[in-house]
Amino acid sequence: MRTPMVVANWKMHGRLAEARELTQAVRDGLKRPRGVEVALCPPFTALGAVAEILTGSPLLLGAQNCHWEDTGAFTGEVSPAMLADLGCRLVIIGHSERRHIFRETDEEIRRKVAAALRHRLQPVLCVGETAEERRQGLTFTVVEGQLRAGLGGLGAEDLARCTVAYEPVWAIGTGLNATPGQAAEVHGYLRGLLSELASKEVAQSVRILYGGSVKPDNVGPLAQEPEIDGALVGGASLQAASFITIAKKSAAKSGASKE
Ligand code: PEP
Repeated sequence: MRTPMVVANWKMHGRLAEARELTQAVRDGLKRPRGVEVALCPPFTALGAVAEILTGSPLLLGAQNCHWEDTGAFTGEVSPAMLADLGCRLVIIGHSERRHIFRETDEEIRRKVAAALRHRLQPVLCVGETAEERRQGLTFTVVEGQLRAGLGGLGAEDLARCTVAYEPVWAIGTGLNATPGQAAEVHGYLRGLLSELASKEVAQSVRILYGGSVKPDNVGPLAQEPEIDGALVGGASLQAASFITIAKKSAAKSGASKE
């Protein structure tokens, strides 16, 4: 029912020449990925160049953020309409760096999710607790609040077009990944909430990715968890070989999908 997905978040890395080289290498290494969908999210400035190289490839193009309006006096912002124009199919929303460094609020994130859906972009909504919140036993409370704020109020059809990424803040870029058991526990909880927001059927169809220091040598056991439907990959997506390995190891066995 759910084909795993692996999303590369390049963050603020990749001038044009580097972006072209990395895209070319990933495209060549994943000509026809089986049992996994793969997306590249370069910085805005490289979207056009990456789109050109991905023409004719099954790899998807995505962005790392968007505004909630289509046009207007919002200096420095990029709208989902513009991303769709460039051929983007998905957009990461509410990444912890956006929440914590740029102080994005739940309300802004909710508006971004709705705007992405209006333009047929697949929102990849990120949720996750800090180390301190986990220590205080607040993990479920935090992710529940973020999920309800980001997706609450959407109809079942829209909800079914979303992807969720559980990214514990303490695991992002730190080399400390959640154990498969820790991640699966939160994924199961999130799926229960999705059932409440829509239906069991919709909840079963929504992919929940894990993100936080995913590397070629730790992705295997994570990918084997039935509740983990792929990965959102930061650092390791900047090396073609690592990202290709992660994508291949995330593929559902014999092209089957997860349920
Ligand atoms: C991320 O940026 O979403 C991420 C998970 O980064 P990293 O893989 O480097 O921890």
